[in-house]
Amino acid sequence: MVKAAVLYNFGETLKVDTVRLRAPGDDEVVVKLAASGVCHSDLSVQQGRLPFLLPVVLGHEGAGIVEEVGKEVRHLKPGDHVVLSWVENCGRCHYCIAGRTHLCEAMVQSMMAGRGFAFEKNGIQIARMAGVASFAERTVVRATAAIKIPHEVPLDRACLVGCGVMTGVGAAVNTAKVKAGETVAVYGCGGVGLNIIQGAALCGASRIIAVDVAPTKLDLARTFGATDVVSAKDGNAPEQIRALTDGLGVDYAFEAIGLPTVISEAYLSVKRGGKLVVVGMPGVGQMVEIPGYMIAGEEKSVMGSLYGSANTRRDMPWLVELYQRGRLKLDELISKRIELEAVNEALIDMENGTVARTVVVF
Ligand SMILES: [Zn+2]
Ligand SMILES: [Zn+2]
Repeated sequence: MVKAAVLYNFGETLKVDTVRLRAPGDDEVVVKLAASGVCHSDLSVQQGRLPFLLPVVLGHEGAGIVEEVGKEVRHLKPGDHVVLSWVENCGRCHYCIAGRTHLCEAMVQSMMAGRGFAFEKNGIQIARMAGVASFAERTVVRATAAIKIPHEVPLDRACLVGCGVMTGVGAAVNTAKVKAGETVAVYGCGGVGLNIIQGAALCGASRIIAVDVAPTKLDLARTFGATDVVSAKDGNAPEQIRALTDGLGVDYAFEAIGLPTVISEAYLSVKRGGKLVVVGMPGVGQMVEIPGYMIAGEEKSVMGSLYGSANTRRDMPWLVELYQRGRLKLDELISKRIELEAVNEALIDMENGTVARTVVVF
């Protein structure tokens, strides 16, 4: 039996419940969680904006220690420290073969086939969010979704690599492939936005303009490498961005909130030939408006970035290594450490935008 935070109905608070964890399949591992970040997508599922099977154990930004491995698992053993990935990198599907492992079909398939159920209570099967379910003392995950990291790296920081850091740094490095000397604007300086900023800094961007409504987040943005900050409260962020870039606009504007109006605004701050990179996820069914003539007339493209276009087994180890060498900030992302029982308060903090990251420590 394990303690886990379960969502029984959309819009309700999570119930910290005692549930039964099933045994691992041949290609799965049992992981004892050490820590889990609380991410915006947890809130989106709780509020019903991202549809998932119910009931579900939330949490998808976890790190922990392998306790048990299935018969076919060769690359992990009990005692290994791992970061959990919410895309599987199965190595067999159309996307994995094409080298686009972040679009791997396995996660969806495993949900459909019922393999997404990892827990049970009173005869009711309980799903695991995104194949992870890190708001639990222990979980079962596919072995390809557990990425081994060195023992020296503290797990309460490593967990952030499992979603926010990969998503943000990867958006700059993998999706946009920002080049040295290029200019960048980042709309939204929460957990993901701060990582886009430090990703753009790693790429050598000459100008990194952070945009947010909260002054505290703009201060934090500077410590992550923003060269300039713009308050979105003044209502004319694209104009302010053009003023900072010789009237041109930026090579890349990143949107890390998922609000259709902000996505439209970010598009307007891109220079001719530049790119809007949408990282935030609007609710299913929401539409985004952009001026049609600019797409061809100014050759401004729109790119999506899912999970930082990650190849998790390639990228997560180098992110951890950068942290170990002092070149990637993780400690500064953590605003609060809590116990699992306080997870609902962490979701409220997330909604109010008062924290970069809250980490549940087990
Ligand atoms: Zn996330
Ligand atoms: Zn795949």
